[in-house]
Amino acid sequence: MLASLGPLVAILLLRMGAASTERASYNYSVYHPFSEIDNWMSQILFDNPDIVSVERYGKTYEKRDINLLKIGERSGAVKKAIWMDCGIHAREWISPAFCQYFVKQILQEYRQGGKMAEMMADLDFYVTPVLNVDGYIYSWLGNTTRLWRKNRSPGSAGCTCFGTDLNRNFNATWGAIGVSTDCCAETYGGSGPLSTPEAASVARYVEQRKADVLCFLTIHSYGQLILVPYGNPNLTAPNYEELMMVGQGAAEEIKKVHGMSYRVGTSPDILYPNSGSSRDWARLTGIPFSFTFELRDNGTFGFRLPENQIQPTCEEAYSGAMHIVRYVHHQEFSGAAATAAASLWGALLATGVTAAHAL
Ligand SMILES: [Zn+2]
Repeated sequence: MLASLGPLVAILLLRMGAASTERASYNYSVYHPFSEIDNWMSQILFDNPDIVSVERYGKTYEKRDINLLKIGERSGAVKKAIWMDCGIHAREWISPAFCQYFVKQILQEYRQGGKMAEMMADLDFYVTPVLNVDGYIYSWLGNTTRLWRKNRSPGSAGCTCFGTDLNRNFNATWGAIGVSTDCCAETYGGSGPLSTPEAASVARYVEQRKADVLCFLTIHSYGQLILVPYGNPNLTAPNYEELMMVGQGAAEEIKKVHGMSYRVGTSPDILYPNSGSSRDWARLTGIPFSFTFELRDNGTFGFRLPENQIQPTCEEAYSGAMHIVRYVHHQEFSGAAATAAASLWGALLATGVTAAHAL
């Protein structure tokens, strides 16, 4: 049968057969090395060519591609956008796992019609599963590199250490607070704002579309937090109250899934002050809704979150993220004012935490 169809068709059929097998077997409950995530992106594109495209929008320091998946219905009109990046910090492996789960889930819901199909007619999701590709690959080399955080660019002249903290390298009161000038430090902010190709790629890509980006979500671990702008305590976002209300709503949705508590607030209020984060940069550049998610846990396993927690962590965080997405979609496309009550507000802000590591 295959032979009579000619070699090209046979190869195509074999490819499709392989595709369906891979699709069924991709395991969202384990951590994947970058090569597997890269193949997974190709597979998602192959399986959903009608609504998925892959865009290469930058190169890492070690010249690897930085790719995102653009997901939404194609139309001639300029659509609104939801940004999500994962894996800006290498060791936070639950973050890329979440982006993969998120993509799987929105595609599945789109195929079922309903609210997701309605939203994907109006907006596109731009999802970067691994932003700090070099760092992520480095963190997979072995036990001694597992807790690597930064990218892999060399330090300034005279410094033998590697790596800049990409989440201190954005142009948001760069270098002001919660950042190190020591290139050996975990929170080294780089030689200047956007000195890293990774941060510069994000800034350039998002800046070009900022009028259409409704929401910027950047995914980290750990601590079970939803952080709103700004990390610099001297600044207050003009829509701080609304950001808190929406973040609080997300935390309530998260709690409903597996009972986990996420606290909501600015970084100086509930974690530590910092500057140069992508979250703050996004808000400063004019994107109205910008949040950092710090996923599980609260420090029991920290960055080495066991694989049996991947699925529940993704399920609850998905609920939280979708609360935010639905809110911003509603605001943009219905014009109605939100009236959600922030009932858990005080309770969730009540406890303080001291972080032993930069998150
Ligand atoms: Zn982080």
